[in-house]
Amino acid sequence: AVLYVQQLVDPIDRLLSWLDELQVGAASLARVLGVGSAESVDKGVRPPAGAGVMAARDVRFSYVDGRDVLHGVDLTLAPGERLAMVGPSGAGKSTLGRLLAGIHRPRTGSITVDGVVLADLPLDELRRQVALVTQEHHVFLGTLRENLTMVRPGATDDEVRAALAAVDALDWAVGLPDGLDTQVGGAGAAPTSGASALSPAQAQQLALARLVLADPHTLVLDEATSLIDPRAARHLERSLAGVLSGRTVIAIAHRLFSAHDADRVAVVEDGRISELGPHHELVEAGGAYASLWRSWHGSSQRQTDELAGVSGS
Ligand code: ATP
Repeated sequence: AVLYVQQLVDPIDRLLSWLDELQVGAASLARVLGVGSAESVDKGVRPPAGAGVMAARDVRFSYVDGRDVLHGVDLTLAPGERLAMVGPSGAGKSTLGRLLAGIHRPRTGSITVDGVVLADLPLDELRRQVALVTQEHHVFLGTLRENLTMVRPGATDDEVRAALAAVDALDWAVGLPDGLDTQVGGAGAAPTSGASALSPAQAQQLALARLVLADPHTLVLDEATSLIDPRAARHLERSLAGVLSGRTVIAIAHRLFSAHDADRVAVVEDGRISELGPHHELVEAGGAYASLWRSWHGSSQRQTDELAGVSGS
């Protein structure tokens, strides 16, 4: 997940969201990354065999007993559809995103893909269905190849190179001292001595290349809306396009970035979807989305002007 523009605009907000991300916990992290088997229980469930229709039915969820944060969400996503989720802070967007990514299981109700309950799938099959993309870049201490094949053991070097090429990262990757065998990373941004330091943009591309290799049908982008910001650096735009194409995308637009580009917008308020439809229909309807859009549009224009000032200096 990406990007500088917003990191410049909103560093403190971003830091807070990173801290929040840490609370997801190790077992969930394994599920986010699709590695390990902490929560993987093979229940003999048949994998989804259809086109990949994702459906939430009367989904309720609580972190703390007796305090639901989702109060009955219904949503059906067509294969290849792009949905933007917007709404006030704390409304439940990230929570719903994590449920749609199979990281949490609904307390009641269901989330299914082609009728198969998502949370019942073994981890490797879940990974083929859906991935959650956050601002965390997760460069692990190891070779560049290992950083990629961890989501698909046995991937060939050709497949690894194709994934890097899809996100426009092949040129710098093969230019590293030992190519795919170059040691990179370590947890977080600080590279361990002896390992090649990846720039933030390279770490972002690595994370995106990992997604290409994992090849899930559906992507949940949380705090990743800046990825589809038209003001994004061109190479990262191309990187993202390589990842999104042909997939169902649920983009949690905490700040309404590019919601109007989505096929449909879901407004989440107080743990429910209060409005759902294409951008122009919701704007015409004159409800919560229309006022959100109007106020955001004004402030985004000011941000655009400020950024133009920054880049021009
Ligand atoms: P934002 O736009 O600010 O990220 P959001 O719409 O994504 O907000 P969520 O992060 O899903 O909202 O939060 C919904 C509710 O669940 C909030 O009341 C929040 O405090 C609570 N919540 C979120 N994560 C946890 C957690 N790990 N443990 C307990 N409560 C949580």
